[in-house]
Amino acid sequence: MRDDFIWGTATAAYQIEGAWNTEGKGASIWDEFTHKPDNIFNNDHGDIACNSYNMWPEDIDILESFNIPNYRCSLSWPRILPEGTGAVNQKGIDFYNRIFDTLLEKNITPWVTMYHWDLPLALHKKGGWENRDVLEWFEHYTDTLIKHFGGKIKNWIILNEPNVHAWFGYALGFHAPGIRDELAYLKATHYQNLVIGQTARQLKESHPDFNVGSSYQLVPIRTICPNTSEKDRLRMDALWNENFMQPLFTGKYPAYFDALMEEQKIIEEQDRETIIAPLDFVGIQHYNPIYMAKNKDFLFDCFFGPIPEEMPTTGANWPIDPSGIEDILVNFKDRYGDTPLIITENGIACNDTLENGQCHDPDRENYLIQHITAVKKAIQKGADVRGYFVWSLLDNFEWADGYQYRFGLVHIDYEKSCKRTPKSSITLYSGIIENNGTLLCNTQT
Ligand code: BGC
Repeated sequence: MRDDFIWGTATAAYQIEGAWNTEGKGASIWDEFTHKPDNIFNNDHGDIACNSYNMWPEDIDILESFNIPNYRCSLSWPRILPEGTGAVNQKGIDFYNRIFDTLLEKNITPWVTMYHWDLPLALHKKGGWENRDVLEWFEHYTDTLIKHFGGKIKNWIILNEPNVHAWFGYALGFHAPGIRDELAYLKATHYQNLVIGQTARQLKESHPDFNVGSSYQLVPIRTICPNTSEKDRLRMDALWNENFMQPLFTGKYPAYFDALMEEQKIIEEQDRETIIAPLDFVGIQHYNPIYMAKNKDFLFDCFFGPIPEEMPTTGANWPIDPSGIEDILVNFKDRYGDTPLIITENGIACNDTLENGQCHDPDRENYLIQHITAVKKAIQKGADVRGYFVWSLLDNFEWADGYQYRFGLVHIDYEKSCKRTPKSSITLYSGIIENNGTLLCNTQT
């Protein structure tokens, strides 16, 4: 790996902080969605989550003791601006400043995700991502972040996975705000792309030395379903990858979606220039290739489908196949453009348990070795990858799946005041970082 390769771990506000309604925080769409019955496995919610609102010093101590030099976390928009716009909640600003100051004192570089799906409920009530005014709201939010954190934060990730947010939240309804509507999906898609373009310019104009990116979950779309045609596969490819990558690099959507957006008059004249965002890096998040199938029960007629029988799976039943990440990275330049790439999430859900106060997670160790090896192969084949973040530092609230899946390098005992126990995988990862990835050569090749 290059000498300045960036190694880190990631979390997100709603998934770890808890303190959902304390010290001035406004509600988000996830607070509302999780408090309604039957939206989430076991009716779990993020009211307490990992209690990182109070226990963050321990989280940072763990990063420090395992020498993890970069930490990606997200800001809760309604903790900073309870109504989404207007008055600032000073306690929210102070909370994040304490975290950033402590990280910096310990030489851990913060990477800040501005938005990881927790839209202020007050803005959702005004139309949220379906209202073009979200551009103004986000502009104000960005100004607030620049004003309060611009002196200490250099690395910015504008949106987390707008593709998953639009499809799961506005087309399938599995995630907040639980909408299943074609027009809502189209607007949420285009307005998120616009926000990325607008915000990248706003951040760079304010501080040209900011390192600005946005993160997307990119996956190869595959199918083993005989009833599913290449056209169906491409439809899913558009939903997942191309509705975000094509606008980012060309200002256009894949033909089918471009026509729908034009028909609905969603795209205004200037927009095609705005959505070509001047990003310093593209954040790639990847867990597995997707196997899809044509399915008329869902909007746009596609959904997840059967996976090859022989394929190993994670604790969440997702396929394990490191060729997926290699494929995305190797083909990125040809498919889209020559932009530096940072893997801002990669990881696995395992059924980790504590035994005698310890947590051994060999499946995660194997997954990390296999996937970091695949990243190294991609780099050898010419991919411009500058960094890698494990999802996640902590076991946490896994959206519609509640607490049933554990993604952390650190075990959280939800029954015992969220006690933190570092798993064996964090020791492995710490060694990988120390050797800048070379350990993998020893173990794998
Ligand atoms: C999201 C994370 C999530 C992870 C595992 C990504 O889609 O950004 O918030 O926990 O994948 O599902």
